[in-house]
Amino acid sequence: MAQRATNLFSLARQALSHHRNWPRLWAAAEPRRHYQAIIIGAGGHGLATAYYLVREHGLSDVAVIERGWVGGGNTGRNTTIVRSNYLWDESAHLYEHSLKLWEGLTRELDYNVMFSQRGVLNLAHTVHDVREAKRRVNANRLNGIDAEFLDRDGVKAVCPGLDVSPTRRFPILGATWQKRGGVARHDAVAWGFARAASRLGVDVIENCPVEGFLIDNGVCKGVRTGKGEITADKVGIVVAGQSSVLAGMAGFRLPVTSHPLQAMVSEPIKPVVPCVVMSGQVHAYVSQSDKGELVLGAGIDRRNGYGQRGSFPVLEQEAAALLELFPAFSRLRLMRSWGGTVDTCPDASPIIGRTPIDNLFINCGWGTGGFKSTPGSGWVFAHTLATGQPHPLNAPFSLDRFTSGALIDEHGAAGVAH
Ligand SMILES: Cc1cc2nc3c(=O)[nH]c(=O)nc-3n(C[C@H](O)[C@H](O)[C@H](O)COP(=O)(O)OP(=O)(O)OC[C@H]3O[C@@H](n4cnc5c(N)ncnc54)[C@H](O)[C@@H]3O)c2cc1C
Repeated sequence: MAQRATNLFSLARQALSHHRNWPRLWAAAEPRRHYQAIIIGAGGHGLATAYYLVREHGLSDVAVIERGWVGGGNTGRNTTIVRSNYLWDESAHLYEHSLKLWEGLTRELDYNVMFSQRGVLNLAHTVHDVREAKRRVNANRLNGIDAEFLDRDGVKAVCPGLDVSPTRRFPILGATWQKRGGVARHDAVAWGFARAASRLGVDVIENCPVEGFLIDNGVCKGVRTGKGEITADKVGIVVAGQSSVLAGMAGFRLPVTSHPLQAMVSEPIKPVVPCVVMSGQVHAYVSQSDKGELVLGAGIDRRNGYGQRGSFPVLEQEAAALLELFPAFSRLRLMRSWGGTVDTCPDASPIIGRTPIDNLFINCGWGTGGFKSTPGSGWVFAHTLATGQPHPLNAPFSLDRFTSGALIDEHGAAGVAH
């Protein structure tokens, strides 16, 4: 109540000055000459890494270096679906660890990330889908993850707006249901981590592109940036769609391809989609924002590219797919669309660990589905940077797996269905 009174008072006071005098959430920092650790990229993953480096591992001298602005990459462009129901043990443990961090994140950061556990449906339209869905539900349960298989009536009960009639072109035969999954407010996640990290003394340096690495005898000693050279004991690359570009600057190659991925929102309407609905078969997914807009997404552009924008054919396909699931939305108007650049690995799993260069680490390859792992990814990457060794949760996600062959193929759980 005291908190609410303060907030109402602040709102009224700031309104008098046309909201021009709100204090900055994080301090504007200029680079110092040396840090214990530099994180490249102020998306959610980079900021979370910096936060946990200080909070969990006691580093006192950390910088996050961002070429643009905090959260201006995929973190601020995604459709915010959070869940942990991946198939293989390695992924299930990693994403579930993250989901548990999500459940306490607002309190941890003292910032409302608007995490809404409204449940996530993955629809099954064919006998094969049903078989795969049941297999995943069983695998999830063995890993302690909440998962259920719903039949057609169960799906209708959870989401009455879905047309489940058997005569549809893609009839709904059932769905996986993860009740603890949901959505969060993407900007708030970036801002919350930036504020919390800044409060712990992390320098969040914006408008400072990394243009090269200081490498001496196979050891990374720092970075070259638009604001000069900065040395560091350790450097972590966390730049999503730009990962292969940064790896190229350091002289190694990644098995990562970058593609535009887009999303769009409708005009706001009354609440009609109470959970997240995803369909790999029809190739669409939807949730409803707190403002009432339907948040819609689909697949990646077929062509590679670094542009943060999409193309009309994907938007058309996205709209058509939505109508397969919800014919009632045919008269809705679309308001906005946008794109990000996603970094996909051949096995649809991330790379988190060491690089061929000593003291240079990388966290990338989250592709179309890394928002859900933001806190967990930062947590394990901070451990990896601080100790020089992967945490057991991210040890299977090393770059080496592309030479050892120990791939973690999550195409079934990751494709379209973020
Ligand atoms: C349209 C869309 C929908 C999505 N939907 C979902 C979803 O529903 N659920 C889900 O889990 N995931 C989703 N994703 C994926 C998710 O957004 C990403 O996996 C995740 O946000 C990646 O976070 P990040 O911090 O690694 O990257 P980013 O947020 O992209 O941050 C990387 C930062 O690095 C900076 N950078 C790049 N190059 C340099 C340089 N040279 N120097 C300094 N800084 C640099 C960039 O400016 C950027 O700010 C979606 C993505 C898109 C594009």
